[in-house]
Amino acid sequence: MTQEKRILLLDNRLANQIAAGEVVERPASVVKELVENCIDAGASRIEVDIERGGARLIRIIDNGCGINKADLMLALTRHATSKISTTEDLANIRSLGFRGEALASISAVSRLTLTSRQHGSEQAWQAIAQGRDMAVEILPAAAAPGTRIEVADLFFNTPARQKFLRTEKTEFNHIEEVVKSHALANFQIAFMLKHNLKVIKRIPACGEPSQQALRIAAICGKPFIDNAIRFSCQHDVLMVEGWIGRPGYHRSESDIQYVFINRRPVKDKTLNHAIRQAYEGLLPAGRMATYVIYLTVDPAQVDVNVHPTKHEVRFSEQRLVHDLLAKSVRDALVDDNQSLGLLAQA
Ligand code: ADP
Ligand code: MG
Repeated sequence: MTQEKRILLLDNRLANQIAAGEVVERPASVVKELVENCIDAGASRIEVDIERGGARLIRIIDNGCGINKADLMLALTRHATSKISTTEDLANIRSLGFRGEALASISAVSRLTLTSRQHGSEQAWQAIAQGRDMAVEILPAAAAPGTRIEVADLFFNTPARQKFLRTEKTEFNHIEEVVKSHALANFQIAFMLKHNLKVIKRIPACGEPSQQALRIAAICGKPFIDNAIRFSCQHDVLMVEGWIGRPGYHRSESDIQYVFINRRPVKDKTLNHAIRQAYEGLLPAGRMATYVIYLTVDPAQVDVNVHPTKHEVRFSEQRLVHDLLAKSVRDALVDDNQSLGLLAQA
């Protein structure tokens, strides 16, 4: 008979490493969390520098509000957030983050340096964490207002995760996807993405609605925007708008399929199903539709706290949202002259 084992409380570091597994799957998940923080900080410019597919270095610089010296330690502490403070807030999320665990998780599985300077402050401060949950020291530093986070040697202390990293190119492609989707969600923010010191994407901010098509083209390619229908549908509980590819334009992969809820990129089965249904009978077998669709709903009607990555969501009226989305897209396809021929045959 095996000897009875006593129950032990995990130490902080191990607990954070385990929890990190939920949010930090690969370099792209780090980029997602960090870029979301820049957006929540009100940045108008975000620079993402990657080395070796993110395994060597992920450096993200923003010109957002910054973090004051007294809060630097807290920023790296689990369950510490400036974004919500009450249960009511949790039911009414307006920021991309709110769980207060990304920086704690990332710093538990990398060598993280956080440098920040608040606007109006003379001095930047830096916190360095080396695979611990808390910074060891806070030092003065030189930096422009905003925040710079460097994540070096991701998974250096969790070999099991490190083994699952794919090639540099694959990991970088995932990172590029994250940047593209946030660039689609935030037209007012300029993005720059570098890999191994080379500029891969430079996406200027876009203030005017007339420039939107250009921005979409810069991210999704000119063929998409040339073959897309701009549409917009206001329902009682939901606003649906965006660009949907004409049925004649389809792809072998689902690489131009973006859905946003209140400017949060999501990968949601119900919503994807609704869009597939709208295109039913219009695409050749095995071919994929293309779309960039924005849903706007009252934050109280959607629960984004379903999964740590927040990719999935629940609506209080799931079925209604599904049906309204399917109808909005189908109507936009039907209203479009160039799609009519195909619809008639369907
Ligand atoms: P969350 O985003 O859920 O609050 P994080 O661990 O991602 O949790 O970040 C913790 C806190 O650190 C945030 O609530 C925010 O106050 C601060 N912070 C993180 N990144 C930035 C940034 N780029 N600019 C300003 N503040 C930041
Ligand atoms: Mg966050």
